[in-house]
Amino acid sequence: MDIWTLLNIKMDIRTGEYYQQHKDEACPNIAIANESLTVWIDEEKQSCFDKQMLCNKVFARTGKVEKDKSTWTCKDFWKEREIIPKAAMEYIHWEALKKALANSPQGTQRWILKHSTGQCGVGQMLQRWKYQEHSLCPRCGEQDKTTKHVIQCQAVDA
Ligand SMILES: [Zn+2]
Repeated sequence: MDIWTLLNIKMDIRTGEYYQQHKDEACPNIAIANESLTVWIDEEKQSCFDKQMLCNKVFARTGKVEKDKSTWTCKDFWKEREIIPKAAMEYIHWEALKKALANSPQGTQRWILKHSTGQCGVGQMLQRWKYQEHSLCPRCGEQDKTTKHVIQCQAVDA
């Protein structure tokens, strides 16, 4: 092994030791230059995640305030955003969806999450991210507002 390989191994070992020593300490919320995505909970930017706290925030919020979306559960948010009738929410088999997602390959999980949240390279998002100046579908030329268009596009090659 050359010197670079040995140094790399040494640094990996030290990184692991450092992580083990400090893994339970809270991380400060430090601004990162040129960061393109931030996660905020209750007006505090998150620089690391306490998985249990995040899970509680997502699934078990208490004290919901109707006009304050930051107090809503994810289900409340998606019901409002996708205009899902309250009665229909009761017929969605959330546990089956959870199990199916957990049993899907990691790439499929990522694709489903990106498409269901709309956070992927469709026309509107590419325009918003300033990768292009329009939101037109590359196949049919229509306005490509959401990921739904990817599924509903009428172009022959879609
Ligand atoms: Zn199209």
